[in-house]
Amino acid sequence: MPFLIEKKFAVCYNIFTMENAVKIWDKVKKELSNKLSATAFLVWINSIEALTIKDGELVLCAPSKNSRDTVEKNYLEDIKYCINILGYNFTSVLIITEDEKQYFVTEDDAATTLSSMIDVKKEKPLSQFVSKYTFDNFVVGESNKLAFVSAKTVAENPGVNDNLLTLNPLYIYGGVGLGKTHLLHSIGNYLNEHNPSIKVLYVPTETLTNEYFASLSKYSSDKDAYRNFREKYTSVDVLMIDDIQFLQRKGGLQDIIFHIFNALYINGKQIVLSSDRAPREINDIEDRLRTRFEGGLMTDIDTPNIETRIAIIIKKLEKENIALSDDIIYFLAEKINSNIRELEGALLKVIMYSQLINKVPTLELAKEALKVDNIDNGNNIDSNKIIEAVCQYFRISHSEIVGKKRTKDIVEARMIAIYLIREFLDLPLVTIGQIFGGRDHSTIIYSHEKISSSINTLKTSTQIKDIRSMLNI
Ligand code: ADP
Ligand code: MG
Repeated sequence: MPFLIEKKFAVCYNIFTMENAVKIWDKVKKELSNKLSATAFLVWINSIEALTIKDGELVLCAPSKNSRDTVEKNYLEDIKYCINILGYNFTSVLIITEDEKQYFVTEDDAATTLSSMIDVKKEKPLSQFVSKYTFDNFVVGESNKLAFVSAKTVAENPGVNDNLLTLNPLYIYGGVGLGKTHLLHSIGNYLNEHNPSIKVLYVPTETLTNEYFASLSKYSSDKDAYRNFREKYTSVDVLMIDDIQFLQRKGGLQDIIFHIFNALYINGKQIVLSSDRAPREINDIEDRLRTRFEGGLMTDIDTPNIETRIAIIIKKLEKENIALSDDIIYFLAEKINSNIRELEGALLKVIMYSQLINKVPTLELAKEALKVDNIDNGNNIDSNKIIEAVCQYFRISHSEIVGKKRTKDIVEARMIAIYLIREFLDLPLVTIGQIFGGRDHSTIIYSHEKISSSINTLKTSTQIKDIRSMLNI
């Protein structure tokens, strides 16, 4: 039976050298998750399954007619784009619904047609940059204008220094969820598009650290590992290191960073760094590195004001073709005020929730979706939460903070906790004294005053800022 033999062969071929529709769709989805917003991805794309490849077409299956129609209308072009980026070569993409599934053959039957659809040689590596993190998708406001303009300038003219203004290194700093990583990826995406011959590398500090120690540990068996590591980071035109505050002072790590930095700098290569704080506020870095980090342009990103937050929500909604009433937009922008990642998360929750219960979103529904009464917003923090955060921040235990020990760290932590409790909770002095192991009310007043008087110093203000942001207050 020639047919059977042929089919068997085709199936083997499929297993060993080809990918099936499911695997391809997984890759496409990964690419789409970089391109689309989290909301669009989770609401519309994630529920789509790959069915098969038939006559050169990739056949996908949507859970409902509504889902199929929306994806066809709004996301088909994105899907095709990602398929193309990955180097696949389908004649088209067909989206069917669950009801129509029975008319389609399964993966195995389709194996014979599969090989022609994949041009293996053409397959390109995935970009290291999240494609939705672009300058175009970044909403500019007072809080981030300088960081945005600096990043854009660097993307347009990497490594260029004139005597008046040096943007090397560009050091972007600010709290979590305010767009630092977004800007770094925007530089990468911009360069890939406008200046593809430029070698640009993005790396989170943690990855860089792991790679460095891995290269050292391999040294006895692979002498090249360490050289390759150095080569990788000194042979680029633009190096971007994210979250440099995680740089540790151990095992020669800072030596190698210093070396990489100098090698790039001397050759006019661009360095971009991000951090949650200014160089002088990072405890653990050597002075020679700190000076290097401060040697170019330092620009901070602040928390966005309400207009910017509203603009961000509107931009995200426009991209996804979703309408929300003004009162919901305002509610979200007002409620979530210090972290754009959380703002996006809240928006996603509202949209998912309304999809789930199949109702048009209203303000009531938005509040329900966010279980707004449970949000930590300063009204429902308590002394325990404050103490816990302070202990975590200073890495001391609860019993130490309320106990008798008077080492420098513990005293400092204790005074800060007392200060925050007094500032944010309406508690009598006596009660605060009791919380701290039966201390006298004069001790509480003294601690509060001591911190109040040093609140304008960089150290104390940073500590308070950090702990407040841990507590969302
Ligand atoms: P960070 O690195 O500072 O912690 P991210 O760059 O990861 O923050 O940003 C968190 C999320 O907020 C990302 O999804 C990002 O796209 C979004 N975001 C931040 N700032 C903006 C902005 N100005 N406009 C649009 N989206 C933003
Ligand atoms: Mg980041």
